[in-house]
Amino acid sequence: MLAQRPLGLDADSIGANFRHYFAHTLGRSGECYTTHYPYKALAMTVRDRLMERWIKTQKAYDEAQCKRAYYLSLEFLMGRSLGNAMLNLGITDEVTGALYDMGIHQEEIAENEPDAGLGNGGLGRLAACFLDSCATLQLPVKGYGIRYEYGMFRQDIEDGFQVEEPDHWLRDGNPWEIERPEYTQRISFGGRTEFHSDQHGKLRAHWVDTHDVLAVPYDIPVPGYCNGTVNTLRLWQSAATDEFDLDEFNAGSYTEAVGAKNSAENITMVLYPNDASESGKELRLKQQYFLASASMQDILRDWRRRHDHDFSNFAEKVCFQLNDTHPTITVAELMRLLMDEEGMEWDDAWQITRSTMAYTNHTLLPEALERWPVRLFEQLLPRLLEIIYEINARFLAEVAARWPGDTERLRRLSIIEEGHEPQVRMAYLAIVGSFSINGVAELHSNLLTSGLFKDFYELWPEKFNNKTNGVTQRRWLAHCNPGLRNLISDTIDGDWICHLEQLRKLEAYAHDAGFRNRWHEVKKANKQRLADLVEQECDVRFNVDSMFDIQVKRIHEYKRQLLNILHVIHLYARIKAGETKHMTPRCVLIGGKAAPGYLQAKLIVKLINNVAQVVNRDAQVGDLLKVAFFPNYRVSAMEVICPGTDLSEQISTAGKEASGTGNMKFMMNGALTIGTLDGANIEIREEVGDDHFFLFGLTEPEVVEARQSYDPKSIIKADFNLSRVMDLLEKGHFNQFEPGIFDAIIRSIRDPHDPWMVAADFASYVEAQERAGAAYGNRDGWTASSIFNTAASGKFSTDRTMQEYNEDIWKLESVACKDCKPEN
Ligand SMILES: *Cc1c(COP(=O)(O)O)cnc(C)c1O
Repeated sequence: MLAQRPLGLDADSIGANFRHYFAHTLGRSGECYTTHYPYKALAMTVRDRLMERWIKTQKAYDEAQCKRAYYLSLEFLMGRSLGNAMLNLGITDEVTGALYDMGIHQEEIAENEPDAGLGNGGLGRLAACFLDSCATLQLPVKGYGIRYEYGMFRQDIEDGFQVEEPDHWLRDGNPWEIERPEYTQRISFGGRTEFHSDQHGKLRAHWVDTHDVLAVPYDIPVPGYCNGTVNTLRLWQSAATDEFDLDEFNAGSYTEAVGAKNSAENITMVLYPNDASESGKELRLKQQYFLASASMQDILRDWRRRHDHDFSNFAEKVCFQLNDTHPTITVAELMRLLMDEEGMEWDDAWQITRSTMAYTNHTLLPEALERWPVRLFEQLLPRLLEIIYEINARFLAEVAARWPGDTERLRRLSIIEEGHEPQVRMAYLAIVGSFSINGVAELHSNLLTSGLFKDFYELWPEKFNNKTNGVTQRRWLAHCNPGLRNLISDTIDGDWICHLEQLRKLEAYAHDAGFRNRWHEVKKANKQRLADLVEQECDVRFNVDSMFDIQVKRIHEYKRQLLNILHVIHLYARIKAGETKHMTPRCVLIGGKAAPGYLQAKLIVKLINNVAQVVNRDAQVGDLLKVAFFPNYRVSAMEVICPGTDLSEQISTAGKEASGTGNMKFMMNGALTIGTLDGANIEIREEVGDDHFFLFGLTEPEVVEARQSYDPKSIIKADFNLSRVMDLLEKGHFNQFEPGIFDAIIRSIRDPHDPWMVAADFASYVEAQERAGAAYGNRDGWTASSIFNTAASGKFSTDRTMQEYNEDIWKLESVACKDCKPEN
């Protein structure tokens, strides 16, 4: 039916298609000088080539009758799609050439694409990297998420303060999605439960008097690397039902009845901008249930399409991965659908649920552990609360049988936290409902089983495992760093873009002076590109001969941007005191968004900006030190930042960063890390070796020990450098016309209860920075270390991460599609 000849991947076919869209679909002529329409025409040209592979892939999965996995996440931080799609289709050169012949620069028009910023930071970007690797490994994995009308806010800096602006990313349309109204689902909220006997005399629950909302899916293609596979990310948007409130309507309140549309459409209006902390807002719980219910109904619909109402081998053919506790209500929703809609008994439904759900934990921070008031559940999701109560009752009976009389243990393990305001502990629901629970780096997984989830580990040790995070080398090396990609491909054989461990072959060239020079030149060109961006965004000029010392990530006290800026102040004080002998010139760049309600984080942004002002305006400082705050840090910015970085700052308090993935992007692009023994830093150092990593700071057990008698005031007193830095801060040197604004920061450093122990690691940090500075002075040594870092980064590919998830948790067969570029 409707057989089509495949679209050509050569420059001529691409050029012809582009002209067709530009003139015939968009109606533009050669006199159109904005780059917006060329971008749209190119996006459609590339999208057409994804479409045919997308349809074929879905057909191949159906025919293979393969097992499938579903990745459920409230966040997918996809960034831009065009460059990645061209890379994965293997047509970047053809497109660039075809456009060049028309006088159009591909890189320039690609800048028109807004980032799809549907996530906060690491957790959302991880989900995006996972999808890329699954498609490249040809694994039948589908992502499910929310199509937020407004993504992560845009960060402006005014007078050094962060100001949030809405991110209306869909304003100019989104060529990378297609609406699928035929798969619209209906989601219920509120109401109450009634029980009726069915025709077999069995008691069945009915959730009645509900307020319903529609979930409309939008599909985004996820291409694998040059393999013909295109997987799917399905994002749900809320919409009102067409049923007006009849009472209001008949009472003449037409506009009020229509107004109810608003509250339905609000559900997917905006992404909550909190990273590693919970909002506790009712709308957020609605978003979570909206995603869970829409996705589960959709997956069951697709199951019935292929198996009718036979669920006997559902658990062998389906697996769900929960990205943190955010989609955990899925556990109760699957139970509800199997029992109330499919008429299954509790035990059968529970057997299916707990053998299909797998949960990934992303944090040890107590403020990030989700708890929802029972009262809120009663109002919003009464049927789901009943199911959660039943899950808990049966679970606690199991615990009581294992540890008779241990009521304290029952209290500790209960999914319901008792107290003045009883709460549902979402992480416990996720653990009880899952067959696999994983952390995201070795240290993090070990801390989970020895601390936070110790009781559960005693009960079910076999459920717990580690899956160290990664990043996709397609976006984070091949796409964002073409200079290095070409140098690597010219140097080593083997398909490193799909087998990143091949990068180890680069080690043999680290001692080759000619190769080192070429490596250095690539880095220098990338630094120039970054310096141009910094000048444009921050109005600060970076000199490419200086060391580029960079920390970009969400602003959070545990990530210790404060420690970084204290070191900058220390360098400034040294320069002002004339202690500049053997000092390595540095350009320090710090960037990241603070959650709008996180005042201490916003104050740290202000301090960085004020220090930058003072340092950059001081003629005596000159080129020895430059400081800039990079506004609106996001995926597309990181694509320029990580290739141009010399020194990657990964300086969290040990035991606080679950994994980190920014650290991996920097390493892959040849940056050296200065870091603590935290998260995946530990594994990075293991891979590259201590000689090419600047280690400092307390270890996790040392942090726990030092807390007992932490006395920052005497640490400051005993440390000349830190005293001098505190002196400048306390005398208001960086806030001469804004008296007192940094008092809360000064207090936090001097606080014996400072959870992040900034003063404890300061001296060790300064010492490691001196080693880094000295090492940078030896150009050949530094370049060799840079090569060793890239060479050792193979482990941190999400291809490896996904293979581990698949071997240990999902157990999917890969399904091959025909290669997308047979002529190559
Ligand atoms: C990789 C990435 C992150 C995660 O950075 P960490 O340093 O691991 O916290 C956050 N935001 C963006 C835009 C990223 O690309």
